[in-house]
Amino acid sequence: MTTLSSATPSRKLSDRLPHPLKRLADIAYNYWWSWGSDRLSLFQSINPEKWQQCGHNAVVMLETASPVRLSELACDPAYVRRVKAIVEQFDHYMNQTDVWASRVAPQIQADSPIAYFCAEFGIHESLPIYSGGLGILAGDHLKSASDLGVPMVAVGLMYRQGYFRQRINRNGWQEDYYIDNHFEQMPLELMCNSLGEPIAIELEIRQRRVKVQIWKAAVGRVNLYLLDTDREDNDPIDRWLTGHLYGGNQETRIAQEVVLGIGGVRALAALGITPSIHHLNEGHAAFCTLEIAQQRMAATGKSFYDIEAEVRNSCVFTTHTPVPAGHDVFSADLIDSYFAHYWPQLKLSREQFLALGARRLGDPWEPFGMTVLALRMCRSANGVSALHGQVSRQMWKILYPERPEDQVPITHITNGVHARTWTAPLMSDLYGQYFGEDWSTRMADPQTWAKVDEIPDAVLWECHQSLKEALITHTRSRAKLARQNRGEDTYWVKVTDSLLDPEVLTIGFARRFSRYKRGDLLMHNVERALKIFGNAEKPVQIIFAGKAHPADEEGKRIIQKLMEWCRRPEVQSRVAIIEDYDIYTAQKLVQGVDVWLNNPRRPLEASGTSGQKVCFNGGINCSVLDGWWCEGYQADANGKGVNGWAIGEDAHTSDQELQDRIDAESLYQLLEEEIVPLYYERDEQGLPARWIQMMKASIKTNAPAFNTDRMVGDYVTQIYAPGNPTTHAPVYAIATV
Ligand SMILES: *Cc1c(COP(=O)(O)O)cnc(C)c1O
Repeated sequence: MTTLSSATPSRKLSDRLPHPLKRLADIAYNYWWSWGSDRLSLFQSINPEKWQQCGHNAVVMLETASPVRLSELACDPAYVRRVKAIVEQFDHYMNQTDVWASRVAPQIQADSPIAYFCAEFGIHESLPIYSGGLGILAGDHLKSASDLGVPMVAVGLMYRQGYFRQRINRNGWQEDYYIDNHFEQMPLELMCNSLGEPIAIELEIRQRRVKVQIWKAAVGRVNLYLLDTDREDNDPIDRWLTGHLYGGNQETRIAQEVVLGIGGVRALAALGITPSIHHLNEGHAAFCTLEIAQQRMAATGKSFYDIEAEVRNSCVFTTHTPVPAGHDVFSADLIDSYFAHYWPQLKLSREQFLALGARRLGDPWEPFGMTVLALRMCRSANGVSALHGQVSRQMWKILYPERPEDQVPITHITNGVHARTWTAPLMSDLYGQYFGEDWSTRMADPQTWAKVDEIPDAVLWECHQSLKEALITHTRSRAKLARQNRGEDTYWVKVTDSLLDPEVLTIGFARRFSRYKRGDLLMHNVERALKIFGNAEKPVQIIFAGKAHPADEEGKRIIQKLMEWCRRPEVQSRVAIIEDYDIYTAQKLVQGVDVWLNNPRRPLEASGTSGQKVCFNGGINCSVLDGWWCEGYQADANGKGVNGWAIGEDAHTSDQELQDRIDAESLYQLLEEEIVPLYYERDEQGLPARWIQMMKASIKTNAPAFNTDRMVGDYVTQIYAPGNPTTHAPVYAIATV
């Protein structure tokens, strides 16, 4: 067990703070501060410039604040009052016992919590161990679990260098680089035993013993345990096992998944945590099922097949990938070299072990699939939107030969977002005024949101315009910096001062650049696009952001195309690109745009969540009917969108070029005939009244459904609740192999 007697890092930090500010250290070490603007501003107001420079890292902020400034604040009654109020809120939050989960699912007890496993977590920009949607979803899941009081711990990896950082050079080509994370300067605590020594669990990887230590990040009431192999007593190669998120090759990948899955289960045991349920968020963590079996076999002396049902009963699985190629698979050779020592511990033969990850039995070329393993070893499986559930049932029906497709036991729970993280403070404030201060605790109730109609148009519009201005200011400053760093000529740097215009219809497009997301669809017909964007009376502007995976040349070519586009004189003040997309830029974007554009090839977007973030801020979605938007989009009797727009038809063709042409045509038509005219239609007060109607519809119809309070609530009642009937039996018997 861990001890509190040796000085924890927050204790050390508080030692350096003047008396009235000491408790700020506790707040800095719990990301709870990040989902409340009054909490965040406690750190920001110490030194706003430094706050930007340190990447919004609250620990660094306190550690490096000048003693003079701190003593100034400690004698400022207004600041001291603010600290006191937030500390009270924090203590109340952390100690509250009357929480949603205690009423709805009292069976889930703190001493046997849900353990949530994921390869990445997007909690905050100052903890860069995420790449995109999967990580953000995991972060939002933890935050809502904390808010709802669901007993939960989480397990992930602490990457020395996280995900790559993006810079775009003068040729428009993405350059990838890495920055070291300095764990000791982050709000992390190294888990130690009662002697003050780091707890280290051991794994055997590539015939070497690898020691893994454990860092804790606090996310409200949820502890996130992050595994780290960067220890002096490990082989130099093994120290880099947790070096990079989604870097390296298949070897690194399988090794990392051993650390996450097997290491994760051992780490929880070493911390004295006995989970009731293991939630495998994506297949990366599926090896954890084997280690759970191994531990139970050791404790009971039973065989793997005797223990299998028990393991299955404690594991649930969420799949995120709608294409077969997106699922992790490993060759039998690779499995041999990583698991030859392990299957004897499970008392399995090589064939029996390989069969656990095989789609088809008896096929020697069949690779070992992590999704297959997860489906086989978990009592329930779900996709992340209704359409994705359907696609997943079709993709995995091969595992259930005796069942018709609609009986394949993969259900769905549609993703959401943590509204308290993604709603702009100005908007939260409006909601507080019109819905009641406790609105964010009644998030999933449509009644809460129906009141959006009571917000006067002029008030909502002014708030939205302020946020758009803030986005434009952010974009200009980032564009200027990027152009300076690229060594562009002074003219090209200077024009960033007049880049974009808050009066102009503003579209946002930000996500990973990969072929299927079609970041260049808008430029399918360049002449037509130029006419739309460069229109003198009713212009349109767009802001892009996103990274292409380092190995994805095609994704990088899309970025290059956009970079060329934004240099064209007709649109150079209308098209902007923000480098190095992260949570902070995502917040600015989703809070400030008029329209959020999403045009993936259907049905390749499992859910998507960025468009959901936009809804909480009054932005309007224009998207292909894929992922969550299939459920969110509403049309009137004439097929016209009520709460946003749908690109293309519900149907789709497998001819991708044809599909691109159809979807681009539909997008141009929507812009020319509906979106642009609606935005520029003004009433006698100068307000776009019908546009504001649509903003309100976007908020009212989407907010109650696409938030993580609703989502985590669904996981609790439909997936986690003990005693929930096991949703599916074994995929098929493997004992006979
Ligand atoms: C929300 C978010 C994503 C996920 O966006 P999609 O809608 O899934 O494309 C990715 N990256 C960041 C930084 C985000 O905030």
